[in-house]
Order: sequence, then structure tokens, then C-alpha cells
Amino acid sequence: METFEADAVVIGAGAVGLSCARALALSGREVLVLEAASAIATETSSRNSEVIHAGLYYTTGSLKAQLCVEGGRKLYAYCAAHGVEAHRCGKLVVAVDDHEAAATPALLKRAQENGVEDIRLIDGAEARRLEPALSPDVRVAIHSEASGLFDSHAYFLALQGEFEDRGGSLVLNTPVARGDVTKNGIEIETAGDNPSRIRAQSVVNAAGHRALPIARSIAGGPVYDGMRMHWVKGSYFTATGRAAFARLIYPMHNQATQGLHLAIDLGGRTRLGPDAEWLSDALTPPFDYEVDSARAVHFYNEVRRYWPGLKDGALSPDYSGVRPKIVGKGEPSADFLIDGPARHGVAGLVNLIGIESPGLTSSLAIGELVAGLM
Ligand SMILES: Cc1cc2nc3c(=O)[nH]c(=O)nc-3n(C[C@H](O)[C@H](O)[C@H](O)COP(=O)(O)OP(=O)(O)OC[C@H]3O[C@@H](n4cnc5c(N)ncnc54)[C@H](O)[C@@H]3O)c2cc1C
Repeated sequence: METFEADAVVIGAGAVGLSCARALALSGREVLVLEAASAIATETSSRNSEVIHAGLYYTTGSLKAQLCVEGGRKLYAYCAAHGVEAHRCGKLVVAVDDHEAAATPALLKRAQENGVEDIRLIDGAEARRLEPALSPDVRVAIHSEASGLFDSHAYFLALQGEFEDRGGSLVLNTPVARGDVTKNGIEIETAGDNPSRIRAQSVVNAAGHRALPIARSIAGGPVYDGMRMHWVKGSYFTATGRAAFARLIYPMHNQATQGLHLAIDLGGRTRLGPDAEWLSDALTPPFDYEVDSARAVHFYNEVRRYWPGLKDGALSPDYSGVRPKIVGKGEPSADFLIDGPARHGVAGLVNLIGIESPGLTSSLAIGELVAGLM
């Protein structure tokens, strides 16, 4: 097995790994990105809503709240500077019954405490003036102007270009198998066609669904006792016909519904979802991403609460993604786990585990945080 020397190794070329690689390269590090697949961003980073979230929902003070608000602002600026298409279309969070309407002031307050700008409560009539296809049942809505959509693949290519321009490299078809913490850094072993050993000063583990087993396979690193991964599949459907909305439409969170949202993607298609289907904890990636057409029934029922004009037969199954969660069903939602030397004590190692939504929106801010932890 050949042995190579490296400065900073990033495991995984999804949104998070690419952004960490960019931030490390900008801070003067020589970066080597190891990716198991034959192309960048083929897992969760290409199986999501491509929404730039404003940061309404997350617990104030959490990493999710901070990195989403900061990351969203940075992402719009980055897209503008790098010619990446982004559309600040705004979003309406709509309440269609008394229970949901009663919950809107608390959500607005949380958003404001999180530092979300350009956000206000509007009544049903104003919501329908903005979006005439909304149901007459919509009583109140939160209008967030900072929410939007962007071309995530153009963004990933821009990140890759930035770290490569500064001397970094990306190696595809190179799964990391394990590692050892040594006196001088971290030694990584790769599998695949050309197994090799890489002696690195620093390692960022941004392997998405596989981040926890990879962290545990680094002998001498943190083992995260008791932690296990849980998987929630999110399926999308598209609606045929002319787009009926200009903004993102999200129903208020309600325990009886899945909160299926609606977006008009950059190609002008109406996309609905994702829903939430808890998979068995015993599953390991790669997942079955096939969308079950029978799930359309829930989509019709839930979406018609706010869009009664959705026609029978309009929905077709689209794609799906799987959220990597570090808490199980019924447990309070967890924050991102961004675990650096100050917490686990291994110099030069950062593990990123459970980077579910809003990981894409937050990715630029996560990259800069990780480069700082190094
Ligand atoms: C249904 C759904 C909708 C979402 N919608 C949004 C949204 O609208 N907005 C938003 O902000 N966020 C959204 N998210 C969250 C967002 O997509 C993720 O947080 C983000 O893509 C995570 O990126 P990542 O780089 O951590 O993971 P991934 O994109 O999964 O990247 C991990 C990479 O690591 C590689 N890898 C794995 N094992 C190894 C190994 N052994 N060696 C080398 N490489 C390895 C994989 O091949 C992969 O390329 C959504 C998520 C889901 C599931």
C-alpha cells in the first residue's frame, strides 16, 4: 500500500465537505478531498429542496439557528459573486385553522430572536393578494422575504473551483476505510481500486450518512458512546400544469400533518414535499431512493388544505432524500454535531455528524466555522 503525505484531508465531497475544503484552502491550507463516489454531491446534497432557509424554526442560540441565518446571507452573496442562480422569492408559512393560527406569533417571535430579517405576520386576505391560489381557509401567514431557491450544483462547482485554484485536489472513487490518530496527526486508509495510506495534519469528516461509522473507525478518536443514526426518508412529487404560486408555501407545523411544502423550482415546475418516513435504524447506506407512488394520497390531502386547486391526477413521483438524524422518532430534534479538538481532544480532527436541514443553507458558514476550529 502506497503512503502519501497531506496537509488537510476532507472526507466527503457534499455541500459540507466542499465548503470546508474551500474555507481551509482560503485559510492557506493545502487540501485533499477524498470522495467515495464517482462525482461530487451525489448523496443528500443532490436530494433536497434547494431552499435557502431564512432560519425561522430552529432553537434560538443553536448552531442550526446561527449557521442558517449567517449561512443564508453568505450564500446569497456568494451566488451573486460567482454567477450562481439564486432567487430570493420569499416564503409564506400559512395557518389554515385556529390551532395553527394561534401558533404563528410564537414562530414569528422565534424567527426574530434568531435574527431573521424581512419577516412579518399578515392576514389571510393579504396572503391571498400575494398568492391568489391559496385557500380561503388561510387565516394568517408569516411572510419571510429572505427565503429562496438556488442552483446548488452550480454552487458546488464554484466551491470545487475555489479550492482547486488554491492548489487543493479532489480524488473521486476513493472511500475512506479507517484511520489512526498518531503523534503527528491522523493517518487515513482508503479502499477502492488503489488502496493507500495518507498521513494528514488535519482531517475533516464530512461523510454525511457515513460520518458516525467513519468517526468510530479512527482509532484513538472519539467514539460517541450510545449514539446511533436514524434515517428519515423524504419523498417529493411534482404537479403538472402551470405554476400557481410565485413563493414557497409552507403549512404551519401541525402534529397531525407532515407539513408538506410547495416550491416552484428554478425550472418553473411545482414541487411538493418532502414528507417524512422513518426508516429502520438497522438500514445502512446506500438507501433505496425510489418514490412510492402510493404516498401521493397524503400529498393530495395535505396540500389541498392550502391549495384547493390541486387537480386529481396532477401528481407524479419525483425524487427522494434521506435525512441523517442523531435522535429517534418522538425525541426533541438535535442540533448539528460539529465536533472539534476543543471538545474531543484530538488535534486536527473535526467530525460533522447529523448535518440534516438546514445543512445546505448553512454550508458556507459551517465551512468557515470548521476552518476556525483547525
Ligand atoms: C429531503 C431533504 C430535503 C432537504 N432540503 C434542504 C433545503 O431545502 N435546504 C437546506 O438548507 N438543507 C436541506 N436539506 C439538508 C441538506 O441537503 C444536507 O444538510 C446537506 O446536503 C448535507 O451535506 P453533506 O455534505 O453533509 O452530506 P452529503 O451530501 O451526503 O455528502 C457526504 C459525502 O460523503 C461521501 N462519503 C460517504 N462515505 C465516504 C467515505 N467512506 N469516504 C469518502 N467519502 C464518503 C458521500 O459519497 C457524499 O458525497 C435537506 C435534506 C433532505 C434529506
